Amino acid sequence: MKIRLPSLKIADDGSIALIKRLLNETGREFAGRYAIVIALGIVIAVSTGLNAWIIKDLINKVFFDRQAAMLFILTGVVVVNGFVRGYSLYSSSLMLGRIGNAIVARTQRRLFDHMLNLGVDFYTRTPSSELITRMSHNANAARQVLDTLVNSASRDALSVVSLVAVMVLQSPLMSLIVLVVGPIAGYSINRLVRRVRGVARQQFTSQSMVISDMQETAQGIRVVKAFNLEPAMRSRMAASIDDLRMRADKIVRIMARSSPQMEILGGLAIAIIVLWAGYQTIYQGVQPGALMSFIAAVALAYEPAKRLARTQIGLEAGLVGVRLMYELLDTKPSMTLNEDGPNLAVTRGEVAFAKVDFAYREEAPLFRRFDFTAAGGRMTALVGPSGSGKSTIISLIERFYDVAGGQVSIDGQNIATVKLSSLRDNIALVGQDTYLFRDTIRENIRFGRPNATDAEVEKAAREAMAHDFILATENGYDTELGSQAAQLSGGQRQRLAIARAMLRDAPVVLLDEATSALDSESEHQVQVAFERLMKGRTTVVIAHRLSTVLHADNICVLVDGKVIEQGRHDELLAANRHYARLYRLQFEPRGRNSADPVAIPAA
Ligand code: ADP
Repeated sequence: MKIRLPSLKIADDGSIALIKRLLNETGREFAGRYAIVIALGIVIAVSTGLNAWIIKDLINKVFFDRQAAMLFILTGVVVVNGFVRGYSLYSSSLMLGRIGNAIVARTQRRLFDHMLNLGVDFYTRTPSSELITRMSHNANAARQVLDTLVNSASRDALSVVSLVAVMVLQSPLMSLIVLVVGPIAGYSINRLVRRVRGVARQQFTSQSMVISDMQETAQGIRVVKAFNLEPAMRSRMAASIDDLRMRADKIVRIMARSSPQMEILGGLAIAIIVLWAGYQTIYQGVQPGALMSFIAAVALAYEPAKRLARTQIGLEAGLVGVRLMYELLDTKPSMTLNEDGPNLAVTRGEVAFAKVDFAYREEAPLFRRFDFTAAGGRMTALVGPSGSGKSTIISLIERFYDVAGGQVSIDGQNIATVKLSSLRDNIALVGQDTYLFRDTIRENIRFGRPNATDAEVEKAAREAMAHDFILATENGYDTELGSQAAQLSGGQRQRLAIARAMLRDAPVVLLDEATSALDSESEHQVQVAFERLMKGRTTVVIAHRLSTVLHADNICVLVDGKVIEQGRHDELLAANRHYARLYRLQFEPRGRNSADPVAIPAA
């Protein structure tokens, strides 16, 4: 099986440093409420200790000395104590739960905000399944760690302290036994902790794999069905699930391993205590009250002590998630957003590349001292073999990536220095694959300009030749689109994208024509919509259609990151060089559909 590891590196800073940071960043806001939870923990601890403490008087004064008054006082104490304890537990659970939910919500918002600021390069590197796992899993990890800390600090640790106090007061000698056994148990638990850390990390990887398999199957369902890939997908998923189960089993095994050790040690300690207590009562005539109280304290301390010993194991598992969360939060955006930079001011809308160097991977630079101009208000078509850099030009104008040398400018302003949001405000992008969000058709168009009115949305849809088909859908503009929007045809999706761009009304339009063939009716409507969109705007279009190249003011032929020829269609045909060859291969009428796309071989 192929091994897929999370693409973000897993840092290994110390657990203590991590807890400190978590408390600093997340805990501080809730410090007041945590203080109350801890105060309630003290109340719970004292009342637990009290339960063990009164056993001495119960046995000695009530059962041996037969003091009736004491019987009523003590039962009263037990009842009141139960009441106090019950309500304290209730309040502290409630508060802790709410704080936890608030922390999860806050962390998720923070993670998402941060991810929105990261550039396109981050998303190409990171599989979305991993982001989903981090979003759902890691926010909960922060809660788990803080919960564990507060819970064991306030309830369990305080309860153990108060019960140990009872033990020492009732029988200092026997307390020694407990003080010897305790650290032994602690040591053995500690050894398990290290192993949990490693396994919890692997579990995260397995978890992303399950999500990624699910996602791939859902997104590629057509391919899966068409190629009868169900058995292959099933076995992929089965392998991922098995892997996850194996890791989860491992954690269960390590966690469970602490039980026999604790039970055996606990049993031994209690046996010794009972032997000693019995001996004293039988042979030395000591009243058993103090001893019974001691035993009760040991019994009551057993569960919280066990939880306390396991705290670190739980903590380690949670810290793995927290570590992954901070890795994501610490990922720096690779480009500056120029929040304080000047706004881009577009007049003619001329886009120019001057001596641009750019590489996705250092060893294979795509552009070297690359010059290119798209005249203001005109249509520039990019043609060339696949991989020649056409999409990259569009990505660089959008500043999805920064250039390594030279500059990309719009009307003489270097786009790397203007406020990034103002650059994007001035550009409308229509990609090959129209991404439609899980929302109504109306809202999907409105994404082009979120403050547009309904009337403006409709106007844009009309101009984009989309109004009629929208009205023909079930609820018109209010029709909900699934995230895959399978119910719309390719041409309809494109027209929605054009409507979005139309609404944006930006001076620069970047267009990646869909390669898929449309029926001639759709083809015509999309063409009309495109022409309206491009009118009077600077347009850079990756051309796959005959009509587009025919109408272009300038056609740039791109090969291996270089413009090797440019001009108008007829000029280039007359020159009878690269373009003429490409044209004959790609656009020359062949049979019924003149825009039938074919792969262009490298020139
Ligand atoms: P075109 O649009 O002309 O087909 P592209 O601009 O998409 O060409 O790609 C140009 C080159 O850059 C290709 O060799 C492609 O493999 C590479 N490339 C494109 N996108 C990436 C990316 N995100 N990471 C690494 N290489 C890429």
